[in-house]
Amino acid sequence: MRLILLGPPGAGKGTQAQRLIETHKIPQLSTGDMLRAAVTAQSEVGLKAKAVMDSGNLVSDDIVNAIVSERIDQADCAEGFILDGYPRTLNQADAVEAMLERKGLKLDHVIEIKVDDDILVNRVSGRFSCASCGAVYHDEDKRPKVEGVCDVCGSTDFKRRPDDNAETMRTRLRSYYKDTSPLVGYYHCKGTLRAVDGMQPIDVVTESIERIVS
Ligand code: ADP
Ligand code: ADP
Ligand code: ADP
Repeated sequence: MRLILLGPPGAGKGTQAQRLIETHKIPQLSTGDMLRAAVTAQSEVGLKAKAVMDSGNLVSDDIVNAIVSERIDQADCAEGFILDGYPRTLNQADAVEAMLERKGLKLDHVIEIKVDDDILVNRVSGRFSCASCGAVYHDEDKRPKVEGVCDVCGSTDFKRRPDDNAETMRTRLRSYYKDTSPLVGYYHCKGTLRAVDGMQPIDVVTESIERIVS
């Protein structure tokens, strides 16, 4: 299954992708995670991307198209994958289509996770994740079951993203409405788009997605 999770920052794309990878045994390809890894590794891509990411603007299409194209050629993507946070521009959507066409593959579903702006700001302001396995938590809505210990891997080390602040979030939301929201119309026309209410509890959103994909 080849799936795109579409939605603004904080909509719950990463949270839902983590559940889908367990149920469907396909990898999650998060361009945000890949770019953050490049920043940490101080690679050429990371050095270029860091300031852009800290400001909340989009990294150039050429850079993200290249990292995704390389990633989907790897063996673990043969049975499918979940694209999380990519494509984010019409140019990137065209690039996905070309990549899949080259491999003789097609996209199965594009799922738009819909959440109101005021809730999104609260979601990213309270977001933190396990420094070891990346599991995503929230200060109010999703604390670890045992305080200070990751539910998934037991690590006691957590981190926050530098771009998860109210000011950068304004830029990220603007960029979402300007550059990314046109993809809703694009995939609607192709007949692959389905929307879910991302303001429901995490488990209910998962059920809505499962109804679409299974
Ligand atoms: P969120 O999960 O909050 O939507 P991401 O982790 O997907 O955020 O992205 C963090 C940042 O990484 C973005 O603000 C942007 O700078 C960069 N980025 C991630 N994916 C893309 C993409 N597909 N195109 C351009 N920039 C991207
Ligand atoms: P995205 O990848 O779209 O930026 P995340 O999956 O990282 O979003 O979720 C953003 C924050 O919102 C996290 O702190 C997460 O725990 C929380 N969250 C995700 N889905 C829900 C939900 N349905 N209800 C409440 N909080 C949620
Ligand atoms: P400003 O800094 O000018 O107040 P905003 O963050 O309010 O900018 O919005 C910038 C642009 O993004 C606006 O022109 C608006 O059309 C669009 N926009 C912002 N929020 C939404 C939304 N919830 N739905 C649709 N478009 C939005």
